[in-house]
Amino acid sequence: MEPNMAKMEGLVRELLLELGEDVNREGLVKTPERVAKALKFLTQGYRADVRTVINQALFTQTTAGMVIIKDIELYSLCEHHMLPFYGRCHIGYIPSGQVFGVSKLARLVDVFARRLQLQERLTEQISQVVMDEIGAKGVGVMIEARHLCMMMRGVEKQNSLMVTSSVLGVFREHLATREEFLNLVARRGP
Ligand SMILES: [Zn+2]
Repeated sequence: MEPNMAKMEGLVRELLLELGEDVNREGLVKTPERVAKALKFLTQGYRADVRTVINQALFTQTTAGMVIIKDIELYSLCEHHMLPFYGRCHIGYIPSGQVFGVSKLARLVDVFARRLQLQERLTEQISQVVMDEIGAKGVGVMIEARHLCMMMRGVEKQNSLMVTSSVLGVFREHLATREEFLNLVARRGP
């Protein structure tokens, strides 16, 4: 369902008033409209159809090796504070007949990142959808991210990087496969 923009703008205006702001001053007049638009954009993952994204992205390919896509840019909002967390997502999988187009895999990450999220859940949702929808033999997803709710509010946490991973199928069952994934992800490219 599409959010009611007029209602969202009204709520942002109320929030500004409650913060002690003058909502009529020049810099703030259009802020409710801008915030509402930004929030709609940043949560568009709720309204995206994962299947549509995936169906346009699959290619038949008989390869037995591991496919790794590293450093997919990631921007999301933490569900506890509605503040951004951002970083990189690495995805590895062993296909069984089908592979993803690289740019579409980034789109898939956005579908889940553009919601209110927990980094752990985001990691799991991405691995699960790759596993289920392309019937991969195994999947590994790692996300490295910095959380503004920690960096801006806390002390001594400005440089903390949160790392989460999720492994399924052969990545979970075979230590060697999991290690191959982690080594390839850790290796810095050209
Ligand atoms: Zn937070």
